Amino acid sequence: MAVPSPAYEEQLKAYEGRAATVAGVGKDPVNEPMIRHWCEAMGDTNPAYSGPDAMAPPTMLQVWTMGGLSGHTGRSEAYDELFALLDGAGYTSVVATDCEQEYLRPLRPGDEITFDALIESVSGRKTTKLGTGYFVTTRMDLRAGGELAGTHRFRILKYAPAQRKRAEQSSPKDRRTEQPSPKDRTNPKSRRPRPVINRDNAGFWEGVARHQLLIQRCAGCRVLRFPWLPGCNACGCLEWDTVEASGDGTVYSYVVMHHPPFPAFDPPYAVGLVELSEGVRMVSNVVGVPYDKVRIGMPVRLEFQRYDEELELPVFRPGGTGEGGGG
Ligand code: ZN
Repeated sequence: MAVPSPAYEEQLKAYEGRAATVAGVGKDPVNEPMIRHWCEAMGDTNPAYSGPDAMAPPTMLQVWTMGGLSGHTGRSEAYDELFALLDGAGYTSVVATDCEQEYLRPLRPGDEITFDALIESVSGRKTTKLGTGYFVTTRMDLRAGGELAGTHRFRILKYAPAQRKRAEQSSPKDRRTEQPSPKDRTNPKSRRPRPVINRDNAGFWEGVARHQLLIQRCAGCRVLRFPWLPGCNACGCLEWDTVEASGDGTVYSYVVMHHPPFPAFDPPYAVGLVELSEGVRMVSNVVGVPYDKVRIGMPVRLEFQRYDEELELPVFRPGGTGEGGGG
């Protein structure tokens, strides 16, 4: 796209600080049925959210401001105008990127909700993988009984989609097994995505580097868990150690990926849900076998496959002892 004029960007910036919603009113007061539905959908059994002293889960903050299909009164024209200005310049696509919430006081059944929202910022022009455009951040201040109870910041990217390249063609003989092809090593753009390593799963990836597949074990109730989590789903305990998987497993289930084609992958290929002999399951590739020969119950054996100079991943190859699933 052509670089926009400074005058255009000034026009966008002029929307910063303008109201997006004025004196909005929650369609329902905070109420137990909506809290219950939320908790059921989330699988959240925290006792704080039920009973006579129930509070709403803090992350429900935005729920109390939602207008549903019929929308809200109080929506200002500024937000629509800003969108029209972006649409008119070719930034016609939109994607929600993130939200941030702050909680100032608990919300309880019966609280009447009011809110105001403003366009907090419009970024400079940014180029992302999706395309080039502008981030628009809206801040909503939510009140209960007139008292500030929390803020909800919501960010979207309004963008002009990047031109898509046609999916790379590959010959049928190359498509039956999922193996690293030479392009993976030479072209950074077609390398497999890197794992996101954080303090909750760093130990797992350290194990992979030593060719060990480590399963977390709760120090409280000894339940094994995978993938790695900071706490135990069974008892809530935050202490844990690890056990090394024997490497034997069976294909518990699988899918064959045909679409969408990502540059580092060569569809169709099989993605297996492998049940390790220790009893936990993990998603991985089943390699060394045509995608259409993978079967539920197939015994598989762990190995570590190198994809490029930085990336090695645990994968599974048919074979092994077939003892998987016995726990
Ligand atoms: Zn536990």
